[in-house]
Amino acid sequence: MSRLDNVTVLGSGVLGGQIAWHSAFKGKTVTVYDTDPDAIVRCQAAHDQYAAIYVSDVGADEADIAAARERLTYGTDLAAAVARADLVIEAVPEIPAVKTAVYEELAGLLSADTLIATNSSTFLPRDFASATGRPEKFCALHFSNMIWAMNFAEIMAHPGTSPQTLTEVTEFAVEIGMLPIPVRKEQHGYVVNTWLVPFLNAAQTLVTNGVATPEDVDRTFLYTGARFGPLGMMDMIGMKTAYDVLSHWARENDDAQMGANAEYVKKNFLDRGRLGLQTGGGYYDYPDPAYQRPGFLDVPDISAVPDLVSLIVPIEGA
Ligand code: NAD
Repeated sequence: MSRLDNVTVLGSGVLGGQIAWHSAFKGKTVTVYDTDPDAIVRCQAAHDQYAAIYVSDVGADEADIAAARERLTYGTDLAAAVARADLVIEAVPEIPAVKTAVYEELAGLLSADTLIATNSSTFLPRDFASATGRPEKFCALHFSNMIWAMNFAEIMAHPGTSPQTLTEVTEFAVEIGMLPIPVRKEQHGYVVNTWLVPFLNAAQTLVTNGVATPEDVDRTFLYTGARFGPLGMMDMIGMKTAYDVLSHWARENDDAQMGANAEYVKKNFLDRGRLGLQTGGGYYDYPDPAYQRPGFLDVPDISAVPDLVSLIVPIEGA
């Protein structure tokens, strides 16, 4: 058993909400902290949805759900939220300045033994180690969306992380039912986002540049038997985080196409309040997205051919 029983999750958005719910479901005492009271309300609504999913998909019964709820508290007072924390998991936006400011504020509030883990998708622990004021007690513990089904957690150290911290954080991961993935070198994007971000960016490029519709891009992936395609996956990740990641790495790598993809996401989704699955819509409308409806992959009637052909841009001179 790890000694990490009291957990505080910073940021009650898409992933913070899932980490908090799942940790409570697995027996941890969890405090959820956010600066935005409305975000807390959305997180509580998401927890109601997770309760139903854990009954239908994870095999929980009503007593398990009630016990998970009992172990959860929510708040907007950082000092109160971390007062008893053995482990703080940071899941605030994927914006370096926001994360650094949170760590600096946190530094004076924690007891000496408290560990901190970042759930950052793409940044290195070394980027924030000194801001925490306790570099030896800091590492990355990266969870994946749909934590109940994608139950792996990537663990990454920076050069100053102590072996004791890595042991305790890895034990914590196992205790809450995660398959630990040890990341053997510091690497932007860890394991999963090293391949997933380019994959999603490529799918987004096809849409941004008008090569194919989002539905057709997703169709070509659904044939693998996956439950959603890359653009459905962006809805699940949330458009705010998709935008943060694309715009940051577009600037960092001077990547004009990635920048255009970030702008597309901003204009078509953020500016229209379509923030993804959790808020009811993004590329698709939820709870009944087109890609889950019967017929999405059906071969069309032959009468549809003229309409399909009209979408194919003729090759000049052919
Ligand atoms: P999100 O935008 O859904 O939620 C972020 C939350 O942080 C919001 O509720 C916001 O109000 C809150 N917040 C903003 N500033 C804060 C502060 N100073 N203190 C406390 N809370 C603050 O973002 P998300 O998608 O949950 O991503 C959070 C982190 O998790 C990011 O680092 C992201 O890369 C990572 N992550 C996301 C996913 C995903 O699929 N969405 C998967 C793995 C990891």
